[in-house]
Amino acid sequence: MENNRSQFEKLVATHLYCDHCGGSMPVEEVLLLILPDGNLYEYRCLHCGKSVGEKRERG
Ligand SMILES: [Zn+2]
Repeated sequence: MENNRSQFEKLVATHLYCDHCGGSMPVEEVLLLILPDGNLYEYRCLHCGKSVGEKRERG
């Protein structure tokens, strides 16, 4: 079952709504902050480079 983990970690490419582009756009996940209780990620639109969202992930 451990082989499934790397597969899951590759599943980061996603689409989010971007205000600037006016629609659902592909985004990249950027590590913003390393916190004591997890990491803070930012989603950036691949088209215009603007931040379109954040995600907190427990470490
Ligand atoms: Zn955009």
